[in-house]
Amino acid sequence: MPPVIKPSDNQLNLADIDAVKVIGKGSGGIVQLVRHKWTGQFFALKVIQVNVLESVRRQIARELKINQCSQCPFLVVCYQCFYDNGAISIVLEYMDGGSLADLLKKVRTIPEPHLAAICKQVLQGLIYLHHEKHIIHRDLKPSNILINHRGEVKISDFGVSVILTKSSGQRDTFIGTYNYMSPERISGGNHGYISDIWSLGLVMLECATGQFPYPPADNFFELLQAVVEQPSPCPPPDRFSQEFCSFVSACLQKNPNDRQSAGALLKHPFLSMYDSQNVDLGAYLTNAGSPLATF
Ligand code: ATP
Ligand code: MG
Repeated sequence: MPPVIKPSDNQLNLADIDAVKVIGKGSGGIVQLVRHKWTGQFFALKVIQVNVLESVRRQIARELKINQCSQCPFLVVCYQCFYDNGAISIVLEYMDGGSLADLLKKVRTIPEPHLAAICKQVLQGLIYLHHEKHIIHRDLKPSNILINHRGEVKISDFGVSVILTKSSGQRDTFIGTYNYMSPERISGGNHGYISDIWSLGLVMLECATGQFPYPPADNFFELLQAVVEQPSPCPPPDRFSQEFCSFVSACLQKNPNDRQSAGALLKHPFLSMYDSQNVDLGAYLTNAGSPLATF
């Protein structure tokens, strides 16, 4: 058996992988489970159709390279990317539990102890992105947080929203959902790392209650108005611990200056209050709903 492929090898070739099945669809394209012919390794192959100039393509390739050399256990590993025939193909680490969005469809809500264990890992990914790589994720949402049977939780698609924006040909078009955007960002103001923390707060709240925290909006302006003008959403205090409510509130401060950084949030009491329970996240994610393995 040939040695397993590592992200730094640069030896993956599209001709050497077989498609197994389609595992997801996003606004940019499809995601397939693929298997490497010689090593038997599984990967997720994401294909994004792009229509851009050579110079923009080179820039996109450079940005994906940054992702490729990220060495952080809380980010989905990018093994390689190719440009071929109007499409960018990205070979990613395969996360056999899919995304938090997929998990929520099966379990509806995630109990606080498990949510604390998940959140700790997401925060460590954000700390790495923000403090070490100086990258704003810009599109943190349940479908961009991936899980596996080992109980690992990893952030994906960091930088991809920028790529999609660039490939759409206009500077500031955004493709995807506005749902998780912070008040300062959705209203077109300056936004920074701390905007990702707002998104994290909404994700945690959605995972805990099983519902997106704002009422369904018919259009962008309704959502904008709700996010900017209404008080921040919060968990019903009779159903959740005071620590969880306090954590969500620390994330969902409407004024970005009042919001806590990823580093500060990692020390929040919510994240350690269930430590003595020794939650087995791997077992939880594996047994949640139907079996996890998507092949
Ligand atoms: P959008 O394109 O609007 O941001 P999205 O994040 O759901 O939405 P994709 O990133 O293309 O779109 O992912 C689609 C789905 O594919 C995800 O919800 C997830 O179920 C699955 N998926 C993506 N990447 C992987 C991966 N590395 N391993 C396993 N499943 C994945
Ligand atoms: Mg995604």
